[in-house]
Amino acid sequence: MGDDFAVIAVVALGVVMALELAAGTTLVIRDTIRRRGQWGINLRPVRCPECGEPAPVVRRPRNRRQALWGGCTCEVCGTEYDKWGEPVPGAGGRDAEPGAAADSGV
Ligand SMILES: [Zn+2]
Repeated sequence: MGDDFAVIAVVALGVVMALELAAGTTLVIRDTIRRRGQWGINLRPVRCPECGEPAPVVRRPRNRRQALWGGCTCEVCGTEYDKWGEPVPGAGGRDAEPGAAADSGV
């Protein structure tokens, strides 16, 4: 009886891990194909969306988001963009309005 339970537990764990792996793989493939989102893999070089400066070859994450999901901050103009070369909303750069969010609603 004890052995049966162990086998069932191992099989159940394997099924759960396989499903999680399949879900993760699906997300990566989906975002890679549509070329946006956090899960995809971008093998092409990206440039700053504001000034066209190429992203550094050796990426140095400036914050937790960049460390987790990729992207970088432009060395020239300071625009933060994701791994697809799209500007990150509200993350600094030319369009950001410092203090605007802090002033509202208080
Ligand atoms: Zn730039």
